[in-house]
Amino acid sequence: MRLDKFLADTTDLTRSLAKKALHREEVSVDGQVTKNPATQVDADSEVRWLGQPLVLVGMRYVMLNKPAGVECSARRGLYPLVRELIALPNVERLQTVGRLDVDTTGLVLLSDDGQWSHRVTSPKRRCGKVYRVGLSEPLEGEALVEAQRRFADGVMLDAEDKPTRPAELDMRGPREAELTLYEGKYHQVKRMFAAIGNHVETLHRESVGPLTLGELAPGEWRELTRDEVAAF
Ligand code: URA
Repeated sequence: MRLDKFLADTTDLTRSLAKKALHREEVSVDGQVTKNPATQVDADSEVRWLGQPLVLVGMRYVMLNKPAGVECSARRGLYPLVRELIALPNVERLQTVGRLDVDTTGLVLLSDDGQWSHRVTSPKRRCGKVYRVGLSEPLEGEALVEAQRRFADGVMLDAEDKPTRPAELDMRGPREAELTLYEGKYHQVKRMFAAIGNHVETLHRESVGPLTLGELAPGEWRELTRDEVAAF
């Protein structure tokens, strides 16, 4: 690939800033300072900018067991960011695939492959996300049957123009629900339970499509295998 593209792919430089860095003789390839943006380089070339070696990485696909108190956004606010937990080069390029609230725990995917992220989140792909939900009020008997019916039919949430897509509700205990969603609206689980007069006290995402957390402890992450990436 061209050297200016390599620089843009491995640093925060845009292609035009990369050209300026080349012009200032800040870049070397295999020990030779080069100013030509069209110089061809590959993964085996030793490219340095201001003396620092640059590593070309392909698309990355990561799963994380998100602890509470960590935010899925791109910019630092009150809380640390999920990507601050991940020790990979150019980690700021990883975007979360959908978001969990700061108090929600569990499976978060991150990637720098926008098309793949779209496949995971697009409701049309019907990729199920399973949530374990701790409720303030027990949900049993007739009320449970009614809740299952409403969630299966779709709930009209405030400020939305369409009802939620059909979702599956099962109970694991009187106040412990398992909800499977095929879309990801803002605060969706909390708003759905609020719509049936209950309140979500704890929320944990157990799986996304075929992916589960397995042995990952809270705060731990790993890269997905090729097969896992291909499963979406
Ligand atoms: N629904 C919510 O309400 N919160 C989350 O974090 C995820 C789904």
